[in-house]
Formats: sequence, structure tokens, C-alpha cells
Amino acid sequence: MYCDFCSTYEPLVGFEYPCQSFDVVIKQFDNGPAGLHMVESWLACKDCSDAIERNDLTALALRQLEARDDLPEDIDFQADVISLLVQTCMRFQSLRTGPRRELQPA
Ligand SMILES: [Zn+2]
Repeated sequence: MYCDFCSTYEPLVGFEYPCQSFDVVIKQFDNGPAGLHMVESWLACKDCSDAIERNDLTALALRQLEARDDLPEDIDFQADVISLLVQTCMRFQSLRTGPRRELQPA
């Protein structure tokens, strides 16, 4: 499985989180928002799942940022990205519909 949070490929262990669908706004442009529609369940690797269980959304957002090597180095831009990621994690937490479920290796 690929982790929906940090994009790590994790062959052995992972968790599935049931969640209501919601739209993630990635960036607000002059002609409107660009974003993704996230559906029902999210997959998390062990490290991301541990951060979710601790409700450590900043750590979770930082893991996502570190996973991206295609972002500009610009500090203001990265601060914007972090705040969007934290908002997304907060919405995910508030729209979760149940406890995590451990996935078995395929
Ligand atoms: Zn992860």
C-alpha cells in the first residue's frame, strides 16, 4: 500500500481509516481553488498512523512536506503548504467515522 499521508510505500503493515469524503483545497488561485476530492477511506503507514493516534497533526503534516521533493524552497510558500496540510489533517480527524483498522500484508 501507499500511505495517503506521506506517500511512502509500505509493503508489510498499514492501517485504514474510515472517513467521510471531503474536498481538500490545495491552493487558492485567482480563478478559484485547485484541489482534490478525498474519498471515504485513507491509508496510513505505521509512522503516520502513530502520529494520527497521538493527534499530532503538525508531525503528520511535516511528514507529508518531507515526502515532497518537488516544492520550492521558498519559506513563505512552505509555510502556506504546512498550514494547508494541517487543516487537511484536522478535517480528516473531525470527519473520521471509526477507529483505524489494521491491514494485513497481501
Ligand atoms: Zn505515512
